[in-house]
Amino acid sequence: MKKTEFKKLLLIDDSPEIHTLLNFWLKNESIEILHASDGAEGLQIAFAVVPDIILLDVGLPVQDGFEICKIIKSKSETQLIPVIFLTGSDDTHDKIYGLNIGAADYITKPFDPGELVARIRAILRARELEQFNAELEHSVEKQTQELIKTNFKLQEEIQERKQIEEEIRKHKGHLEFLVEEKTKDLAIALDQAVAGSEAKNIFLAQMSHELRTPLNAIIGYSEILLEEVIDDGHDDYIPIVSPITNAGHNLLKIIDSILDIAHVESGKLEAVIQNIDVDELVQEVVDEIIPIISKNKNNLKINISEEVGVIRQDSEKLSKMLENLLDNAAKYTDSGDIVLTVESKMEEGSRYITFKVQDTGIGIEADKIEIIFEPFMQADNSYTRNYDGAGLGLSLVKKYVDLMKGVINVKSEVGVGSSFSICVPVFD
Ligand code: ADP
Repeated sequence: MKKTEFKKLLLIDDSPEIHTLLNFWLKNESIEILHASDGAEGLQIAFAVVPDIILLDVGLPVQDGFEICKIIKSKSETQLIPVIFLTGSDDTHDKIYGLNIGAADYITKPFDPGELVARIRAILRARELEQFNAELEHSVEKQTQELIKTNFKLQEEIQERKQIEEEIRKHKGHLEFLVEEKTKDLAIALDQAVAGSEAKNIFLAQMSHELRTPLNAIIGYSEILLEEVIDDGHDDYIPIVSPITNAGHNLLKIIDSILDIAHVESGKLEAVIQNIDVDELVQEVVDEIIPIISKNKNNLKINISEEVGVIRQDSEKLSKMLENLLDNAAKYTDSGDIVLTVESKMEEGSRYITFKVQDTGIGIEADKIEIIFEPFMQADNSYTRNYDGAGLGLSLVKKYVDLMKGVINVKSEVGVGSSFSICVPVFD
């Protein structure tokens, strides 16, 4: 419960009886009475305490009540304190004068205690309401000020945001312009690249063709020469003539690979699907590879799963892929084991064939596995490398696998060996 707040009442009167009577009449009210017997004392208390109500005798000695009231009403700290005049005179003129100079009420002696207390109460209540009103106004004013400030801040933020949006709009426009320009540049670059790539492929195809003709002649004549050397018993010429044939074959292989890659890159190459007896295909490829396998004293083991049988795929491309993988295994393995495993499997209603070539050769460093499928890239790119080849075989294999929508996997460890496996779909 709210503690009763005592109101302060200042009584300025030179008659001691009034003071006593008022104490008595107001004893049950929540009012603290401050007493002054003349105007000077009354003013002193009024300024020091600022009471809630002043009861002021009109007929005070020295300065009368009207004078005191004028002083009270002239000072900002006391001007709002309600003043009730106490007088023995019933003179209307006095009453009007008193009210005019700011009195709240006018009570004539002898007092009716009930009326006096009721008037004091009413004026205090009115004063309370006034104060409450003033506080309310003050609080509304404060909140209004806050709102104005917040509104001002909001306006500033809106302005700032608008500026940022404007900046973004400008930058966006500029960016769009840049992107457009870059896209145009890229389109031109792409066109040039396509044109360049086409020109390169045409050039390679023509060059390969132009090179092949004389190369086949060199190989043919060197073979005839070798035969004649042997027939005529000039064995000491064999080491001179046979490298011509070998070098010719190697060069032809490189030219063929370049031509094949250019062909795939042109995008014009299509798979030629036909029935393939996998056993036969493997045997033909192995026959090609046998010389190099024997040369490096490797041991070849072939495992073809029984269910493989006949498949439908592009025979030439499968042969080339297998030949490259076996050729590499034989080339990079010395006196080791090479295992070819061929399996067939069904996956989600489609049939696939897998060729896996494992060797116990030199292996490939982990960070080189990515690059070996790039044309002309070799795990060992040094001039001192001991192996033939131009770095085109795996590049071609990868391109064929992609063309056939298959996958190629490599596992390798330096000094332990490598395992290449290709898996391609086969047709019904
Ligand atoms: P290359 O004609 O050089 O053999 P490839 O494209 O066939 O070209 O192979 C690229 C490179 O990958 C080879 O130079 C070699 O470094 C590495 N490589 C391929 N197969 C093997 C393998 N079975 N063992 C070790 N290294 C291999």
